[in-house]
Amino acid sequence: MPSAVALESLASSLEVGVAFFDKDEIDLVDVSAVSFRKLSKTSAAQRDAALAGATMTMEFADWLHEKYSIPDPTIAGFNGADPETTAEILRAGWHLGDRPITNLLHALEANGVRVFSITADTREIDAFSFWRDGVPYIFLSTSKTAERQRFDLAHELGHLVMHADFDAVPQGREREAEANSFASALLMPADGVMSQGMRGASVPRILQYKTYWKVSAMALANRLHQLRLLSDWQYRSTCIELAQAGYRTSEPDSSLVPETSQILRKVFFGAKSSRVTQEVLRDLNLTRNELQSHMEGLVPFSIA
Ligand SMILES: [Zn+2]
Repeated sequence: MPSAVALESLASSLEVGVAFFDKDEIDLVDVSAVSFRKLSKTSAAQRDAALAGATMTMEFADWLHEKYSIPDPTIAGFNGADPETTAEILRAGWHLGDRPITNLLHALEANGVRVFSITADTREIDAFSFWRDGVPYIFLSTSKTAERQRFDLAHELGHLVMHADFDAVPQGREREAEANSFASALLMPADGVMSQGMRGASVPRILQYKTYWKVSAMALANRLHQLRLLSDWQYRSTCIELAQAGYRTSEPDSSLVPETSQILRKVFFGAKSSRVTQEVLRDLNLTRNELQSHMEGLVPFSIA
């Protein structure tokens, strides 16, 4: 049993109240139930830090669910179809037609997906997702470009709808490829892209239309290749040209703003927001910084 002084010191280092250590044990998020992109590159320590952070987020999520009415999940029961068809069915259910998704984060929240930030410093993890008690969660790294965050959200949604049966199967390349195809089809529906006369599209044209679809230039080039609007050779030279202009790692000149959470905004930036913050800090024995870390980048400002 640590001394009172040691406890104080631990609490302040970990940014929690001392009472935090007296709380009941909580169930850790199970690694086998979670989708990780780039699992091979992800060190076990980083993965475990991200999952421990997510475990803490679950307490916060439960608190939110108890105090506020949050939309019920509507995205179950899609297993079986291929990624392209799954994305089409989902888009139809969301009444999107051939249009771009204006705000994917809002659409996810409206359909019962809970979205939070990855709290740990985990540069190698873009995002991960899992189902818990019938509720889908996505954890997002919000330090990426707005375009990349949208793709990551769409990719994780793909895992949630197509791979809900995680059974510790090595979540290898096949599932990653499926989630990428789903994301691509969700953000850039075939009919919509086909109607834009993009056969053999030049780089300037791709840059013009990537703004329309709110995706990265590379993601659109990849989609055009998938839809056979760019030949293998055209796709390769487009990728080279885009990479030379800096589009492999960023989106130069992009004015797309990262999407933010409507739910968290309503709770923490509505009327009575400072009382709400006090309440959650007290109920969960967290510091303001710790609380903020669960929604970093998903709310427009730091919480009051
Ligand atoms: Zn993945």
